Amino acid sequence: MLSVKKEEGFMTNLVKFYMLMLLHEGPMHGYDIIDELGNRLGKKPSAGQIYPLLKRFQNMGYVSQEIRHVGKKKRKVYKITRKGRNFASGLLNKFSDILDVAVRQKITKCSHCGCEIYRGEYRQKIRGRILNFCCASCAKSFR
Ligand SMILES: [Zn+2]
Repeated sequence: MLSVKKEEGFMTNLVKFYMLMLLHEGPMHGYDIIDELGNRLGKKPSAGQIYPLLKRFQNMGYVSQEIRHVGKKKRKVYKITRKGRNFASGLLNKFSDILDVAVRQKITKCSHCGCEIYRGEYRQKIRGRILNFCCASCAKSFR
């Protein structure tokens, strides 16, 4: 089952990346990280996936732990370190190159005005062909 393994590796990398990006925005509790990652990735990671990763980031010096007092309760928050920030921005640069290519492949052009559309193109079948437009009025003018 090589393909499954590959996909897991990709998810783990994505989780790692998003986790650092989240912590880049501010300190967070472990379970907030899990929730927020779930929102962003569309699939909630398990605690068994997240805590070992946080531990590894701590060992690598990318993340530190802090105890915060919330009322009478003590809660652990995770914070990104300077080293972690450097690592995250390096990752971000790498990812933005990849994303740039991916986004460019997704862009279509409006058949009428020629503007670039990233998402939400207006599709219409004209003379047996499905054409992409940026909006309904472009589709109308085209006919
Ligand atoms: Zn248009």
